[in-house]
Amino acid sequence: MAVRSKLPQVGTTIFSVMSGLAETAGAVNLGQGFPDFDPPERLLAALDRHARGGKNQYAPMAGLLRLRQAIAGKLARDYGAEPDPEHEVTITSGATEAIFDVIAALIGPGDEAILLDPCFDSYEPAVLLQGGRPIHVPLAADFTPDFERLAAAFSERTRLVIVNYPHNPSGAVLAPEHLETLARVLRGRDDVYLISDEVYEHIVFDQKPFQSVLRSPELRARSFVIGSFGKAFHATGWKVGWVVAPPELSAELRKVHQFVTFATSTPTQHAFADVLEQEPEHLQNLSRFYQHKRDEFRALLAGSRFRLLPVGGTYFQLADYSQLSPEGDLEFARRLAVEARVAVIPVSALSATPLERRLIRFCFAKSRETLALAAERLVRFERGTP
Ligand code: GLN
Repeated sequence: MAVRSKLPQVGTTIFSVMSGLAETAGAVNLGQGFPDFDPPERLLAALDRHARGGKNQYAPMAGLLRLRQAIAGKLARDYGAEPDPEHEVTITSGATEAIFDVIAALIGPGDEAILLDPCFDSYEPAVLLQGGRPIHVPLAADFTPDFERLAAAFSERTRLVIVNYPHNPSGAVLAPEHLETLARVLRGRDDVYLISDEVYEHIVFDQKPFQSVLRSPELRARSFVIGSFGKAFHATGWKVGWVVAPPELSAELRKVHQFVTFATSTPTQHAFADVLEQEPEHLQNLSRFYQHKRDEFRALLAGSRFRLLPVGGTYFQLADYSQLSPEGDLEFARRLAVEARVAVIPVSALSATPLERRLIRFCFAKSRETLALAAERLVRFERGTP
């Protein structure tokens, strides 16, 4: 029987494809974004303690209150925002669930969601599954929003705009003026909401404070701000994220969340609450930790023909490989995995609009040894390439 697919044009996500290829090719995996080192010892001990201490049944649907309180406290300290933990903070099973829930709550048939290319690959299918229309707007050359094109993309069907800073895949960050311009572009459009995917909020370099949408009361009033503990605590496999939104928006989000996963894993929520309460310095040190890795990785490739783009945040490094090869990025990434034995992400897989440059993405959330081995292989490969 032929299946009538709801997503006929969608294949397997590039992150799984490249991780699979890394495995079969014996490649160092700098593709899918995840650390190759463990979460802090205190977090592991807390999970063990809570799992053994009977915290193994359903958590409250919206998340453990103590974890929501810890998040609210963190956001008050970091951005001066003071969300009400009871009505404005919701825990989800990862940021990807959060994104899906918000889109499902807002988008109906024919509604439009504006996506800024390149962007994370879950946004578009989530819109399509609701019968919505993804409207793709390319980012500017420096990967900040092209506000003129954004303003021109609105129609009376626009319901949602999704922004993501620090930006995956480019590592671009916003300046305070960008938030002001974004607020201006949205002003007066009362039925347009904003998803601000801020999962890399704690990885911002060169002493720049992160420009969360939560700093702007005007933007906050229409926003779902999404965070991730996986990124901040080297625990992407634990799948715990959160959403901050005004009470009436959080209520709509929870209507979906309760029937997607109902609630998120209980002992992990307790463990994150413990470390947020007891070890705030982990988050304070994270930018420095990753900045060091960024600098180390860039230095290792500095003499090569991979042209490294600037990185202001995240644990991703883009490289223009046009001096090495005229191939398309999918083809080049495949060859790199097999011949150089280094797996990367071809950036065109994250963009519905054609890109002006040929780019691949490296993840540098790796140990020194992993980065050194990958760089050695990349340099050997590019020396052997005419
Ligand atoms: N956010 C991660 C990345 O960009 C991957 C997440 C996933 O594989 N779904 O690499």
